[in-house]
Amino acid sequence: MTGSAYPDLIRDYGSPLYVYDLGRIRSACAALRTILPEESRLYYSLKANPHPDIVGCLLEQGCDVEVSSEGEIDAAHAAGARSAQVLFTGPGKTRSAISHAIRTGVRRFSIESAADLDRVATESLANSTEAECLIRVNRDTRLTGSSLTMAGVSSQFGVDASALLAHRELYCSRAGAKIVGFHLFSGSNITAEDRLADQLYDNAVLAAELAAAIGIELLEVDLGGGFPAPYAGRGESLNLALLKGLGDRIAAVWSGCDVPPQISFESGRYLVATSGSLLSRVVDSKVSKGQFYVVLESGVNHLGGMSGLRRLARPNPAVEILGQHDGLVRGSLVGPLCTPIDCLSSDVELPSVAEGAVVRIPDVGAYGLTASLIAFLGHPAPIEIVIDGADVISTSRLTITREPVARISQGALHE
Ligand SMILES: *Cc1c(COP(=O)(O)O)cnc(C)c1O
Repeated sequence: MTGSAYPDLIRDYGSPLYVYDLGRIRSACAALRTILPEESRLYYSLKANPHPDIVGCLLEQGCDVEVSSEGEIDAAHAAGARSAQVLFTGPGKTRSAISHAIRTGVRRFSIESAADLDRVATESLANSTEAECLIRVNRDTRLTGSSLTMAGVSSQFGVDASALLAHRELYCSRAGAKIVGFHLFSGSNITAEDRLADQLYDNAVLAAELAAAIGIELLEVDLGGGFPAPYAGRGESLNLALLKGLGDRIAAVWSGCDVPPQISFESGRYLVATSGSLLSRVVDSKVSKGQFYVVLESGVNHLGGMSGLRRLARPNPAVEILGQHDGLVRGSLVGPLCTPIDCLSSDVELPSVAEGAVVRIPDVGAYGLTASLIAFLGHPAPIEIVIDGADVISTSRLTITREPVARISQGALHE
């Protein structure tokens, strides 16, 4: 999309708008594949952006999907994912979520604890089927000589490698659940290429060592991801040239195997971050005690409201001002919410005569709208427009509705 088309979208659809360009998603996906071993499976993490056209686009590019809730399972299926393409992950999978997954055909699970494995086995058996399980492992220590590898840290995610070795009987295949491999996810947004490469490689080595130690046949190893991407115009893009040898290095871990395992990776932000822009009209501007303020229609209810993923309330975006303006002034960019936390940036170049101007915040295709406080203060969600080059593919808006709920029956109390 050319810059001049953004004002046309505001004119045609109003403001605020999230605009996602599928062409950029395809390019990111193709670029990422160039550094992965051949035949790798690449899971798209719906957490980054569950928009059906984005999920559909990545399915078309040959991705599978990584989901962590009933809502994400349904979103994946609605976007056209086959059940065999779905990996269900996450530390708090309830019986009803596992049951929902199995009843909708999902058969691949990341297992976070012995109890999680028991629940998956029980729900599979109740549906007369068998699930394939990857044990999510939290590494204990550095396993290779690299000084850049991060040691494992205490967390709610996965099973400590030492606990797996000490209590291997808790993590065996059983009726309803077959252990097929490991899932290792070391972290998000790892911006140093050498560290990223070492972590992925170390995960491969650890998986091979653990499989040998506890005697399981590895059918799949999910090495995680952490592929970085800029957010709201800040941060570095991945330098793929620095990761050229990674695929061969990982493949070499299983070079002696007759049948090497399926190697898998996961990515959310790298695949979709740069596809998205948030456009908002300026509603008001003022000077207060010497500080200049520009008020947008969108604030932390639409962008950066999430404090997770090491994102603070202020994404401190790089902003582009679209259309005419009479010069720039440094000031604060704020949203419409009645709270001082609704500040997108406290020091950014803003149009001096602001009312009616349009601001574009780039690189918000990942962890944008659905990672924000969309219910807070009840402003309408931005319209989401999916484009492909010059074509508008879809226009829609998320809504939040309240529905009546009946009391649960006694039989459901085992939850
Ligand atoms: C969040 C998450 C991802 C996606 O992370 P990105 O930084 O968006 O690539 C992948 N796998 C797991 C297990 C996650 O929790």
